Amino acid sequence: MSLALPILARSAGAVPPAAPASDGRSLRDSHGRVIRDLRLSITDRCNFRCVYCMDPDVRFADPSELLSVEQLIRLASVCVGLGIEKVRITGGEPTVHPRLTDIIRGVSALPIDDVALTTNGSLIDEARAAEWHTAGLRRITLSIDSLRPDRFAALTRSNCPPSRVLDAIDASRRAGLGPVKLNAVVVRGFNEDEVQDLARLAHDLGVEMRFIEFMPLDSGHHWDRARVVPAEEIVRRIDAVLPLVPDGRDDPSSTSLNYRFADGSPGRIGLIAPVTRPFCGACSRLRITADGKIRPCLFSRQEWDLRPLLWANAGDDQLKGFIADAVWTKQAGHGISSRDFVQPARPMSAIGG
Ligand code: SAM
Ligand code: SF4
Repeated sequence: MSLALPILARSAGAVPPAAPASDGRSLRDSHGRVIRDLRLSITDRCNFRCVYCMDPDVRFADPSELLSVEQLIRLASVCVGLGIEKVRITGGEPTVHPRLTDIIRGVSALPIDDVALTTNGSLIDEARAAEWHTAGLRRITLSIDSLRPDRFAALTRSNCPPSRVLDAIDASRRAGLGPVKLNAVVVRGFNEDEVQDLARLAHDLGVEMRFIEFMPLDSGHHWDRARVVPAEEIVRRIDAVLPLVPDGRDDPSSTSLNYRFADGSPGRIGLIAPVTRPFCGACSRLRITADGKIRPCLFSRQEWDLRPLLWANAGDDQLKGFIADAVWTKQAGHGISSRDFVQPARPMSAIGG
């Protein structure tokens, strides 16, 4: 189904090849996967420079390249019309966007139940968290890779103490943004010796902590397989001090391996293991970058620019056709372990994690 105007191909970007006709209400790729989950990146900027994500001299997009708040909300709305059920607002660091609350309000007004935010947690206090909750946000994920102030500062290349993220967890919960989830990227030589402490935090707070394998998505292209700490090792380290049991409630299409604590704590452990246990077959995600590019996969090397359509005042049906065609091109898998794997030019921060 290609409703995109061919003439727009002249103005910028490539136009995806026409996919077979779709029903106009759902998104499917050519490998039979149904796409239900949108990651909407609202900025590529950030107040941190995490070692696994951004080099200190990372270059940001020119602000004139970025989608407006109205365009972001419109694209989310068009995607919801195509069967998207979950929208995660991300970046870059979404909390540096001056109109984050308006974006949350606009996306939350769409007919979906699941609107979430991923943030580094450094710029949250209870008043902001409450404002987002009133605007419709229900779930929040905060990143915390270390509990040691010196190491946290080194990992994030910031002067933010981890206590600020701990305060943000409290503020978020008090504001009703729950259940709070935590993310930690584990990088060999930086923080693998802290997985037990981070797991204990999840245990004691009764929240879910998701450990993520380091992926080749850093802006400096310094990723090295030797720096990846396999999910299996992470589980072994935690289980040695806080016995774990596989979570029987696992959803077969889940992209994480999930565990509960054997002692009955309400906390949970999730492992996101794209390197050692790829979950591409269960992937239901679509990404739109802050500069209006559709990325069917985190590791796409081809992206599809929506801006010419937006600039040309294309109608919703044209946008839907373009998005459906772009999704059809989603690759079967990321291929990190294949010999001809090439790291995408964009870092995680410019894609939307
Ligand atoms: N700034 C926010 C944050 O850090 O939570 C949201 C955007 S960030 C790109 C989203 C997630 O991607 C974070 O949990 C971050 O730790 C993770 N991430 C960034 N670079 C990564 C990499 N190279 N490998 C694995 N995860 C990465
Ligand atoms: Fe910023 Fe998040 Fe990337 Fe860290 S992981 S540099 S907080 S965008």
